[in-house]
Amino acid sequence: MKCEIISVGTELLLGQIANTDAQYISQELAPIGIDVYFHTAVGDNSERLKECLRIAWNRSDIIITSGGLGPTLDDLTKETIADFLGLKMVEYQEAYEHLQRYFKGKKITQNNYRQAYFPEGSILLPNNNGTAMGAILEKCNKIIIILPGPPNELVPMFKESVIPYLIAKSGYMIKSRVLRIFGIGESQVEDMIKEIIINQTNPTIAPLAKEGEVTLRITAKGKEEAIIDKMIQDMEEHIRDILGDYIYGIDDDSLESIVGQLLIKKGITISVAESCTGGLIAHKLTNIPGISSVFKLGTVVYSNEAKVDVLNVNSEVLKEKGAVSEETAIQMAQRIRQIGKTDLGLSVTGIAGPDGGTAEKPVGLVYIALAEDKNVICNKYNFNGNRLKNKNLASMYALDMVRRY
Ligand code: ATP
Ligand code: MG
Repeated sequence: MKCEIISVGTELLLGQIANTDAQYISQELAPIGIDVYFHTAVGDNSERLKECLRIAWNRSDIIITSGGLGPTLDDLTKETIADFLGLKMVEYQEAYEHLQRYFKGKKITQNNYRQAYFPEGSILLPNNNGTAMGAILEKCNKIIIILPGPPNELVPMFKESVIPYLIAKSGYMIKSRVLRIFGIGESQVEDMIKEIIINQTNPTIAPLAKEGEVTLRITAKGKEEAIIDKMIQDMEEHIRDILGDYIYGIDDDSLESIVGQLLIKKGITISVAESCTGGLIAHKLTNIPGISSVFKLGTVVYSNEAKVDVLNVNSEVLKEKGAVSEETAIQMAQRIRQIGKTDLGLSVTGIAGPDGGTAEKPVGLVYIALAEDKNVICNKYNFNGNRLKNKNLASMYALDMVRRY
């Protein structure tokens, strides 16, 4: 389907604002297979707008207008479109109620009352951010979509109402799956799957870095669900071949849900001793339903005294090596495992910042240890976030160590 955008507003022609509405709409239409052939900007002038509509009507299947839905006299998009299509302007109860809700019982001025009128046959589009509802008109196999100008109104309306409408019209279906990746950065991921990203068409791949992890969204479109599913499946396998076990889950999975399920399924019990994460790991684990069958004990041993008194960490080791050291982390993990009588003991000790760092032990230095019956492993990390970010990263790397166990 061929689409074009007519942006209405004299301020666009005067160069006072950039046409971000048209930019946004174009970006959103490309992935759903709707080609945008023209962008036109026109002033708040009925004759010239009609001229644009005439041209667009002859060459496009979908015409999207933005702007000119406000209450003032220069807002004349709807009236002009009605005139162009030979339709009457009629009052819509739905739009009137929207205005009433918006004005919360205050008197609706004559100007604003105009916003309850739309060309006859309009399908109205809700607007949670302003007085002007949008509209869709279908006539002679053409579609005209009328949207308000302010981006904070246009964008949500487009996302919530227009995209689903257009997807249904185009006969296309869109499905996506998110691959969740932990332990490597976004640029590394992009580098590893460079070939796939460069050659992507359908499915498309969108990487995103967020809160310590990287996600890859695979989006496929087509007319048959089974074919779309197969396309996503094949792409996922291709990416898994490259990224291996950096991929820890999909869609709504989290590190803790994956770790929780793993422990529950295998019946492996765990205890946790936390210093700089302050209970965050225990919090995350206890967010998982059913975790009580495997998570036995969690302690926050924040001071050196507590590490000695509660966990019986060797005070000589603490004095010599310091609380943030491999030796202390290992002892914490081993002791909590014994006290909790569990298969695994997990410990974290580090410097979350912003203070407390030294040249030798900078802010962000974290040791994480995982002890089992005969073995213990300890990893050292240097995070460079703020306090909260460092705590979160430490908890994530700790969970990831259990996942990889
Ligand atoms: P209002 O109810 O605010 O009058 P409207 O639908 O009548 O909304 P316009 O009057 O055309 O829209 O524009 C209102 C404001 O929205 C403009 O001043 C501008 O800030 C923004 N705007 C309008 N068109 C665009 C556009 N194409 N791109 C970006 N911003 C726009
Ligand atoms: Mg206006």
